[in-house]
Amino acid sequence: MAELIDGKAISQAIKDEVRNERAELEKKGIRPCLAVILCGNDPASTVYVSNKKKACEYCGFDSVSLELPEETTQEELLSKIRELNDDKKVNGILVQLPLPSHIDENAVIAAIAPEKDVDGFHAVSVGNLLIGRPGFVSCTPAGVIQLLKRSGVEMAGKECVVIGRSNIVGKPMAVLMLRENATVTVCHSKTKNLREVCKRADILIVAVGKPKMIDASYVKEGAVVIDVGIHRLEGKKLCGDVDFESVEPVASKITPVPGGVGPMTIAMLMKNCLEGCMRQNGLLNE
Ligand code: NDP
Repeated sequence: MAELIDGKAISQAIKDEVRNERAELEKKGIRPCLAVILCGNDPASTVYVSNKKKACEYCGFDSVSLELPEETTQEELLSKIRELNDDKKVNGILVQLPLPSHIDENAVIAAIAPEKDVDGFHAVSVGNLLIGRPGFVSCTPAGVIQLLKRSGVEMAGKECVVIGRSNIVGKPMAVLMLRENATVTVCHSKTKNLREVCKRADILIVAVGKPKMIDASYVKEGAVVIDVGIHRLEGKKLCGDVDFESVEPVASKITPVPGGVGPMTIAMLMKNCLEGCMRQNGLLNE
């Protein structure tokens, strides 16, 4: 029986830490502020944005919310981002993805001032991560590192296999594990013998985007398994990229879905926004 890694409890602890640090900032007259832009009316995005606003309230942050119609042009969106870049009160800017298909996501991400890029998607943030300099780290992979650390999982010297190489999860995940001194293998849709490669892993991180694809046949006895995937099945039940029932008896520790990686993403967003605010006010010793 694997031990469950409780993302709900760990994310709550992080939000409480952020809230306490925010209270200390208040004594200096500083209050973090996150701007969230939603463009269009994708139902999942609307829920994510509302959860981000709730997290801001919980942590005691100010928040600015821009809800733009589906037919907003790219230039209109870029112009809103430039206004927020110049607004001294705003410490972090997040544009909820995906954007309507007529808007170039890369151009939008590039327009966000790197010092306010709390999602960690800007090329400057990614570059800083790669060369080990301070900066924002993509929230989901940063959350996975916190789950591992706070569950007492030793990473140094361990074989880590990451399935997925997306810019927002797989690639930064691999770099972060490298930073923790794991020996890292990154798998993707062209990987040969995926099962054998995964079976080498002491720590298996799955961000493949395929419901329940990874069963026990991919997992070494005693491995730690982190499931980044989120899928809504018919009947509204959530599942991950890992077949939990199959893998749980083989793994030593495992994240459930829901209640594993999912809640960490917003907690890390709050942490990033606090960090951005402190950095902008010269309060971080880096
Ligand atoms: P993407 O679809 O962008 O990336 C999926 C990756 O998996 C790609 O690199 C792809 O390879 C690889 N892949 C696809 N099929 C296979 C296969 N059969 N064998 C091996 N590799 C394969 O997904 P994301 O990285 O954005 O997200 C991954 C999962 O995490 C999704 O389920 C998503 O919903 C979830 N997610 C959860 C978040 C959270 O807050 N918990 C946040 C973000 C994502 P290739 O590059 O060759 O195409």
